[in-house]
Amino acid sequence: RTVYVNGAFVPETEAKVSVFDRGFLFADAVYEVTCILDGKLVDFEGHMARLRRSLDELKMASPATDEELLAAHRKLAQVNNVKEGLIYLQVSRGEADRDFLFPPEGTAPTLVMFTQEKSLLAGPSVDKGLKVMTADDIRWRRCDIKTVQLLYASLLKNEAKANGVDDVWMVLDGMVTEGSSNNAYIVTQEGNIVTRPISNDILAGITRASLMRCAEEHQIKIEERSFTVEEAKAAKEAFTTSATGMVVPVVEIDGVALGDGKPGQVAKRLREIFIQFSREKAI
Ligand code: PMP
Repeated sequence: RTVYVNGAFVPETEAKVSVFDRGFLFADAVYEVTCILDGKLVDFEGHMARLRRSLDELKMASPATDEELLAAHRKLAQVNNVKEGLIYLQVSRGEADRDFLFPPEGTAPTLVMFTQEKSLLAGPSVDKGLKVMTADDIRWRRCDIKTVQLLYASLLKNEAKANGVDDVWMVLDGMVTEGSSNNAYIVTQEGNIVTRPISNDILAGITRASLMRCAEEHQIKIEERSFTVEEAKAAKEAFTTSATGMVVPVVEIDGVALGDGKPGQVAKRLREIFIQFSREKAI
């Protein structure tokens, strides 16, 4: 594989980042994951807009313009011949002597990118649906910033696996926040979608924004409000969204099957609508 490091396209075995990089020492870094479908980028502008916001919130310098980032994304997908998969992008505050204080202004940020081939359209989790368990959301309260502090999410995914389920929905003050790496939704008995409003407690999913547009265009009602685990267990159906998962049905929460325990109609329909929408908009 060819990877990208600070402006250079190099074989992954030759790519280097300093031991003193603040991303490595302090998790002082932000990231984005953009999907590649049919060799094209899905909602690139949305991901770059969120990247700019993450950088601004952390007072981190921008490593490149959107045009440069687009060119680099396209070149990386092309040289690695990825038609379906993703591009991971990470920006850290750069290399500096270890100090909690930020390095002096002018310190160059570190920008790395790599591709990963992944089957996005087909998958067992889509056909079978996900089983999820719930856990306390003990993350820091700036979950709106897409930092590389993913240790808790990683712990939870492993806990899910150890418990024989697929993922975890996190709960704060009795209300579901989001999945370990996705946004969470339930479908009411009337067929409305319920999802938590955007705040510092969740990541504003790029897929979430597109999904809400798709739902509106197809006259599916959205209730942007918090919901409890009890309400979720009694829901008609449930699902998650993320760039790489797109729309994935949830069929079980804490051992309680939703409906008939099979992926729901609303989730399946929204997945198809979303895929078509993404393909048409991809650049
Ligand atoms: N919430 C969290 C905690 C995530 O890690 C992700 C995926 N990065 C999402 C939501 C979904 O965001 P997106 O649709 O932009 O992939």
